[in-house]
Amino acid sequence: MGGQPAMSSGGIDLTNVTITYDRHPAVHHLSGRIEAGSLTAIAGPNGAGKSTLLKAIMGELKPAEGKIIKGFTASDIGYLPQAAEINRRFPISVLDTVMLGAWKRSGAFRAVGRQDMIKAGDALSAVGLEGFERRPVGSLSAGQFQRVLFARLLLQDAPLILLDEPFTAIDARTTRDLIDIVCRWHGEGRTVVAVLHDFDQVRAHFPQTLLIARELIAWGRTEEALSPANLLTARAMAERWDENAAICEPAA
Ligand code: ADP
Ligand code: MG
Repeated sequence: MGGQPAMSSGGIDLTNVTITYDRHPAVHHLSGRIEAGSLTAIAGPNGAGKSTLLKAIMGELKPAEGKIIKGFTASDIGYLPQAAEINRRFPISVLDTVMLGAWKRSGAFRAVGRQDMIKAGDALSAVGLEGFERRPVGSLSAGQFQRVLFARLLLQDAPLILLDEPFTAIDARTTRDLIDIVCRWHGEGRTVVAVLHDFDQVRAHFPQTLLIARELIAWGRTEEALSPANLLTARAMAERWDENAAICEPAA
């Protein structure tokens, strides 16, 4: 793309970030840097604060303490929430769902033109859903719907892409196809951060890993971050939260 700045123009700096719900910390004193153009997995046990961290990077949650400084504006960010947070019963077509990507990129008040329609069709072909334009999203399988959301991200064309468990409960074939798209984004110089729970997937495709259990356990090359010792620490920390829950419950 002659003359335009590289996709990887900005990284993300986290300094002593604490994110709370009702003052209970879900992410505690986290510091580190997501390099521009890197492909990073966020891993950790259930309740570790992975989704919370992604929402804070996206700007939906504000840290109670610390700073997140990113070289990206709001419209630079493509975000795929965890499936549980998406309402699929909303009566909207596949094409309209994909077209939301065009609005996200350039503002809700810009007229969406023929060019965008053509691009939306191309994005649907790229995810293997040619001809699905008029289908209501409620009629799709989980895998097909996830393909639609990836088509929307393709149309949005954002330099920073945040994915929250993109392959959970998704069939193997779709997972393979969507991992290819993630790798292509990385090859194009975009910064990609994905919450994942399948360590084999992380090891196979993600060079960098951030392992958290509310506190940072490891952040760096995937092989080192996911060492047996670090995984043991993560599990031990998660078991400690369960103990706390058992103690606190009767008082309520
Ligand atoms: P993960 O994605 O790693 O499973 P989350 O970031 O969703 O973890 O949650 C981290 C902690 O914050 C959990 O204890 C969870 O119950 C709590 N939490 C998440 N969202 C909310 C919310 N909206 N209100 C209150 N507590 C929340
Ligand atoms: Mg989560």
